[in-house]
Formats: sequence, C-alpha cells, structure tokens
Amino acid sequence: MTHATLVRLLRQVLETPTAPFHEYHMAATIRALLAPLPHVTVTADAFGNLIACYRRGRKRPHLAFGAHLDHPGWVRTRGGAAEFLGGVPAERLDRCGVRWFGDFGMWDLPAFELKDGLVRSRACDDLIGCVEIVALLMELERLGAEATVYGLFTRAEEVGFVGAVHLAKSWPLPEGVRFVSLETSAPRGGAAMGQGPVVRVGDRMSVFDDAVTAELLDAAAAEKVPVQRALLDGGSCEATAMQLYGIRSAAMSVILGNYHNCAPDGGIDVEYVSLADVKALIRLIVATTVRMAAGRPADSSKAAMKRRIEERLRAHRRHDRESRRGWAANDPAG
Ligand SMILES: [Zn+2]
Repeated sequence: MTHATLVRLLRQVLETPTAPFHEYHMAATIRALLAPLPHVTVTADAFGNLIACYRRGRKRPHLAFGAHLDHPGWVRTRGGAAEFLGGVPAERLDRCGVRWFGDFGMWDLPAFELKDGLVRSRACDDLIGCVEIVALLMELERLGAEATVYGLFTRAEEVGFVGAVHLAKSWPLPEGVRFVSLETSAPRGGAAMGQGPVVRVGDRMSVFDDAVTAELLDAAAAEKVPVQRALLDGGSCEATAMQLYGIRSAAMSVILGNYHNCAPDGGIDVEYVSLADVKALIRLIVATTVRMAAGRPADSSKAAMKRRIEERLRAHRRHDRESRRGWAANDPAG
C-alpha cells in the first residue's frame, strides 16, 4: 500500500465521528471502504458488529483480526443531559470543549493531522485498529492472495467489551479460527513508540495464544518487520474478553501517546501514534495471513528449536552412557 493511499484511508476513518453505542457513521465508512473489494463480503451480527470476510481460493481460515469502532465520548441521554462514556478521569471532563454530532459528542480536537511522522487525532483508539484491518483486506486484494481471513469491527468496547462479548457468545466463525485484537496502547513493559508494533504476550488480565503469537513473531522475522514483544498490562483488551468466553486469542498494539486523550499536563488533548509503527503492523498482519494460508509449520521458530534439541539429545547420548558406572556406584536408589 502506498503512503498516499494509507494517508487517505487514515483521513477517511479518523474524520468519521464515533462514540460508544453511536458507531453508525463509522460502520457506514467501513462498509463504503470495503464495498469496492471483490473478494470481501461484509455482514453484521444481531448487535451490529461488522464481520468482514476476505475469501479467495479454498484456503482454510485461521485468523480473525478485530478492532473496535468506538472511542470514549459524550452521549445525550433521553432527558437531554450529556453523559460521558469511557475511561477518562472525572476531573478532566471539563478540560476541553465538545463537538456534537446529533446524539453524541467528541472532544473538539483535530480529527486527523500528520506531523513529524505522528498521526494525531481526537480518536486514535481504536480507529487506527480499524484502519489496519481495512488496509489488510485492501492489500490481500491487491496481491491476489489465496487466503481466507476475517475482520471484525466491534461496538461499545469502551464501556466493557459489549460488542466483543456479543460476538463471542454467538461466535459466527468456523471452528479453529482465532481472534487477534488490534489496539492502541499506552507504553508498558519496555515497549516504546517508533520501535515497531507490539506483539502482546498478554494484557492486565490474560496471557494470549502461544501458537498465534509465535506465527506473528515468525512472520516478523521472515519479513524483517520490526516488532516488540511485550506484556502491555496497562489495561485489558478484547482478546481477554474473547478468552473469557472460550475464543483463543492473540493481540497486537501500536504504542499510543495521550491514552484516552489524557495529556501529561492534566488536560485533554489529541492521541497520537507513529505512522511507521502503523505501516509495520499492516505489513506484519498481511505477511502472517499469507504465511498461515500457505501452511508452512516446518520453518516455525518452535519447530526449529525442537529439531536443535533433538540433535543435542543424540550428541549427548555418549556422555550419558559413559556416566553409567558412576551412577551404579553412587546412586542411593541403586
Ligand atoms: Zn480505549
């Protein structure tokens, strides 16, 4: 994907307004972006989560990449009062103006700026994840990749994984498909912005699927995509929600500045991510999808480690034989 195409995509998604439960504009934007892709179908479940499927050829699906359509924001209650939904400390709620879009409002901050390699927006979390999934599907289409993969766009994550739990409870995907949460996260566990996307070994609540995590790391090594492997335990992501309901999950993040618009000075400001990290994450999920569709378990790092261990076992058999006399003379269990 060219730089110009990605920037246009970022602008289209980030300029679309959203708030918990009020994701209809974002859902329409995602549908419009995916409509021209001939191998992608988009359906919605009963709750309104979007389920996109790229299918070309007859390859078995392995992964479903997920991102949430909402961001902490204001909603108008039936009585007309404004209520804030999402994790922002109460003492900050009067630190910024609000721009209303009918029944919901967002912080009155720029929707999209690209400056010094940083994407700055009133809502990077998790619209960046949505952009990454759309970019994945566009790239697979451009490459003509033979694969089957899902993109899940969930509602109302910011108030407790509401959309993800609806999806998990009536899991609509084939047996064996594993969920991969794509998030933006505050830096933790030694991870830093600009050093590549983070393959999360876990979050505050869970450890994630070992096999999918290994696939992501192997794809990164093979394609020379910079990644950081870290425990981002600042919060919980949808992978934890999915696993609570029995869906095995992995997770990736790009490091986020001003998490939930909370600036270090105590005010409310734009969130920001590194554009290079976003580009690397897109490359990595494309590569992982293509590799898993091709099915090459033999070149996995874990298979290689097992082979090395087996070779060492053979090489050390002589030492074991030569130590038998000593064992016979000295082992009290005799
Ligand atoms: Zn959030």
